[in-house]
Amino acid sequence: MSNGATTNWAGNVTFTPDHITTPTSIDELAAVVVGARRVRALGTAHSFSRVADCDDVLVSVAALPQVVEVDQTSSTARVSAGMRWGEIAPVLHAHGLGVHTLGSLPHISVAGSVATGTHGSGDGNGCLATAVVGLELVTADGSVREIRRGDPDFAGSVVALGSVGVVTHVTLACVPAYDVAQTVWEGLRLDVALDGFDAVMGCAQSVSMFTTWRGDGIEQVWVKQRVGDPEADLTWTGMTRADGPRHPVPGADPVHCTQQGGVPGPWFERVPHFRLDFTPSSGEELQTEYLVPRERAAVALRAVDGVRHLVAPVLQVSEIRTVAGDDLWLSPAYGRDSVAIHFTWVADTQRVLPVVAAVEEALEPFGPRPHWGKVFTTSPGDVAAAYPRMAEVRRLLDAHDPGGRFTNDFVSTYVRDA
Ligand SMILES: Cc1cc2nc3c(=O)[nH]c(=O)nc-3n(C[C@H](O)[C@H](O)[C@H](O)COP(=O)(O)OP(=O)(O)OC[C@H]3O[C@@H](n4cnc5c(N)ncnc54)[C@H](O)[C@@H]3O)c2cc1C
Repeated sequence: MSNGATTNWAGNVTFTPDHITTPTSIDELAAVVVGARRVRALGTAHSFSRVADCDDVLVSVAALPQVVEVDQTSSTARVSAGMRWGEIAPVLHAHGLGVHTLGSLPHISVAGSVATGTHGSGDGNGCLATAVVGLELVTADGSVREIRRGDPDFAGSVVALGSVGVVTHVTLACVPAYDVAQTVWEGLRLDVALDGFDAVMGCAQSVSMFTTWRGDGIEQVWVKQRVGDPEADLTWTGMTRADGPRHPVPGADPVHCTQQGGVPGPWFERVPHFRLDFTPSSGEELQTEYLVPRERAAVALRAVDGVRHLVAPVLQVSEIRTVAGDDLWLSPAYGRDSVAIHFTWVADTQRVLPVVAAVEEALEPFGPRPHWGKVFTTSPGDVAAAYPRMAEVRRLLDAHDPGGRFTNDFVSTYVRDA
């Protein structure tokens, strides 16, 4: 088990497999798949939902041989699926390459983050899965299959919640390596944030707003600017630059966070909020996130503001990001540029769940799509209805995994039987 335990990173999910296995070769992995009644791949277990769970065999690909094979001609890299972004990034960088985005933490596996549509922020940045141009996976009959962008099944197989097979390698479309300078701004009034949402979020390659919903606005705005782009000046908003390093969670030590203060550095040391060798976020938490259409951002955030009296008492911090729309059938950003409204809650499921439901009710008019890897209470019917290509997803899973070898309760509930 990659996290050395039978729980997820947060400890709110106890996995229920009969056994857990970590094969060291593709042949061994294929034998595990064929020999299992049900089998699910586990990445670094950072999901807060039961998306990765299995009642038979949980398999990790972390012990397969680790490769990062760069093809300079096509600017692609074929990487081992179980490696973490923080492990592959320096290798790509050494080859003069980068990835267009990263999540808030580099600790998560490539395959696990791609499978749930994990994203960072940035108007022009699709989720991590949009960098994928090829997948190699062990399928239900134990054979190795390669799926490339352009194949008919590709759009349904990338953000696939582990249900198409066990991914062993991922080929990524890279961008030229780039440097980023990160600056934290403070003190954005909510009305200025909402009226000026496009200008603030569009001022740099990646922008995140952080609020506790306890004051009268957005406490911090993290601006990650490509070196060479015109410097973002947000003084017009009334904000000022932070006078030292900050952590988004009030009271937490900024030593966990990537370098700020406008100091330029390589993309993989600035785009995530948290450093690979430190605990990300607060470490004691639950998380929830909804993606709603970008053009409804201001009114959706007003709706959350309307339930702040419920949210604030159980919240550590909220993050607001933008994600470019994509064509991956189960991606929460499928077909629409999105605003992602995230909540880092206290680690108390009983207190948090009713508030999650209240947030969902407030966001309901905007067709919210919950992050697959986070806590939500949305009904299976509403989840399925939020995905226009759900019928094609079911057909794809029926064709490639008719016996449901890669299906778990989560996937049955929200995808196959919803
Ligand atoms: C502190 C923290 C910060 C986070 N920040 C962000 C963020 O900034 N943005 C964001 O979008 N999300 C964020 N998340 C959520 C996280 O990115 C997702 O839950 C992600 O899926 C976790 O990746 P993982 O490798 O741990 O996958 P797991 O949780 O282990 O698994 C997730 C899914 O991937 C599948 N999977 C894993 N490996 C394979 C494989 N080899 N083949 C096939 N399927 C596989 C599993 O079966 C499961 O369905 C955060 C989570 C934490 C704990």
